[in-house]
Amino acid sequence: MKAAVLHAPYDVRFEERPEPKIEQPTDAILRLSATCVCGSDLWPYRGANVINSPTTMGHEYCGVVEEVGTGVTSVKPGQFVIGGFAFSDNTCPNCLSGFQSGCLHGGFFNTAQAPMLRIPQADGTLVPTSGKPSRGMIPSMLTLSDVMGTGWFAAEAANVKPGNTVVVVGDGAVGLLGALAAKIMRAERIIAMSRHETRQELARNFGATDIVTERGEEGVARIKELTGGLGADCVLECVGTPESMKQALGSARRGGYVSYVGVPHGVSLDAQQLFFTHVHLHGGPAPVRRFLPKLINLVEEGEIDPGKVFDLTLPLDQVAEGYRAMDERRAIKTLLQP
Ligand SMILES: [Zn+2]
Repeated sequence: MKAAVLHAPYDVRFEERPEPKIEQPTDAILRLSATCVCGSDLWPYRGANVINSPTTMGHEYCGVVEEVGTGVTSVKPGQFVIGGFAFSDNTCPNCLSGFQSGCLHGGFFNTAQAPMLRIPQADGTLVPTSGKPSRGMIPSMLTLSDVMGTGWFAAEAANVKPGNTVVVVGDGAVGLLGALAAKIMRAERIIAMSRHETRQELARNFGATDIVTERGEEGVARIKELTGGLGADCVLECVGTPESMKQALGSARRGGYVSYVGVPHGVSLDAQQLFFTHVHLHGGPAPVRRFLPKLINLVEEGEIDPGKVFDLTLPLDQVAEGYRAMDERRAIKTLLQP
């Protein structure tokens, strides 16, 4: 089979890779219906992480079970399934406390921009949908593997409650779906920080009530102005840069909640600021496995349509263009069809 391989910054190739096989009795093999490029894939793509040797890419997927190992009991060939970007046994103490992305026997995928994918810990990782989803529903199902689950975690970690005022820092796919999650959690006011017109429109479509185009100190001042000088109850930091974290912390009210789900790059925190603002901080790689049953149900019921974040669909063999379009911000998120 052919799959995406990153050779050097800005150099993604679609090349021959061995087809995955069952290696452990707990494995399953999926034939992917769709995969995609993640905002976090842009960090290595842009050279923020050192690439020592050609590396496979991709961690978002959904598809049909092709084969299972002898120890797998919860899914069977032919079923349509979704799993998170991390695999997990879903039985260890970390999983049972709801942090499957910190599973003692888990790990992260990096071979999903491919037609076939090996799933370790298949019983703990995969969740079947109630039936085979329609073609139109597949993009939304795909988002549950990461972006929608991560947006949901961002809202939950920021303690979004009915009636709250929520600020979303970052207008990438995760930030946009964080706004959607806050809407489903019945936030009253959702302020999206974005200066990009099509993203603003999508943020409003997902539930944002206000748009703030200012950034940095001006952005913080604008949030204060919109919240009677207080700051927001909940702030979702969905980027991972020093500037975005600073903007997020500055936008929260006294005792407010800041979640951070953008992979931090170069961010350091000022303990004195944390101390004197009474801020609650929570984040990390989203335990999307925890949210899958609920989110699958919301998609199946037509309550949410997170697949709208895909504004570019390409055949998998054009994966390099998928990366370029996102890097140049011509696309919010690229769906790839194997
Ligand atoms: Zn576990």
